[in-house]
Amino acid sequence: MEQPEKMFRYIQKTKIKNHIRDMQVRLISVTAPLIQVDNQQLSPEGLIAYCARVSSPRQETLDYEKLLSYCIAHRHWSVFEMVDMSVEIVTSRAISPQILRHKSFQFQEFSQRYAEAQEIERYQPRRQDSKNRQNSLDDLDDATKQWFDKAQERIGSIALEQYKSALEKGIAKECARVLLPLGTQTKLYMKGSVRSWIHYLEVRTDKSTQQEHQEIAIAIKKIFMEQFPVTAAALGWR
Ligand SMILES: Cc1cc2nc3c(=O)[nH]c(=O)nc-3n(C[C@H](O)[C@H](O)[C@H](O)COP(=O)(O)OP(=O)(O)OC[C@H]3O[C@@H](n4cnc5c(N)ncnc54)[C@H](O)[C@@H]3O)c2cc1C
Repeated sequence: MEQPEKMFRYIQKTKIKNHIRDMQVRLISVTAPLIQVDNQQLSPEGLIAYCARVSSPRQETLDYEKLLSYCIAHRHWSVFEMVDMSVEIVTSRAISPQILRHKSFQFQEFSQRYAEAQEIERYQPRRQDSKNRQNSLDDLDDATKQWFDKAQERIGSIALEQYKSALEKGIAKECARVLLPLGTQTKLYMKGSVRSWIHYLEVRTDKSTQQEHQEIAIAIKKIFMEQFPVTAAALGWR
């Protein structure tokens, strides 16, 4: 163990955060169409429609509300692969593996092999649902919540302190990281087609998804609805 003074310094440097306050989602990019129709730059949704009309004599039609609704109603999903959106997500290592399972996306994630982990997120506890293993309930008493909060703070402080000691002893980051808990913060870039986002958002805003992941999906859905308002309306997303 470190000397108390040194340990205190580490604990002072330790950043343990509440995930709700810190959960961050940011729009990074959306496909920018280069072609024009009637001297107007196509919007990303306009490009989806333009590509969907590849076999139509009216490919230059600007209106696309009915077409995108028709494509969704008839599961003509490939047209929604013509446009991509990328977001930046800051979350914990407890959630990032769930996000990474969505194999149709492309990712870049913060590497704990090359860079030093800095922060540990703190979560609000919920009670395990005894009937549904995928569910948790927000009805824990205050004493239990406080206990869990303290437990996270204690574990986080010790883990970061030991992790930093390991680095100081020259232990490689890729080895030292085994000392870190799942609450350790990470950052990801997630790029996918509108098609992939539609299905990701349907699944991950659903109650069956862990709350902390749901909150990320809800934030991304808000971005999606701003970027793709016609598609979102056709999906019945309000
Ligand atoms: C509640 C929940 C519990 C889970 N539990 C486990 C578990 O216990 N163990 C485990 O290993 N994994 C689990 N998973 C992960 C799950 O099995 C998938 O691996 C994960 O959700 C990624 O989905 P995906 O393979 O469809 O990938 P995605 O990248 O989301 O989709 C793959 C492709 O399928 C398309 N697609 C998806 N849905 C549709 C649709 N409805 N219609 C048309 N096209 C569609 C997408 O557009 C994309 O092109 C769980 C997921 C959830 C939501």
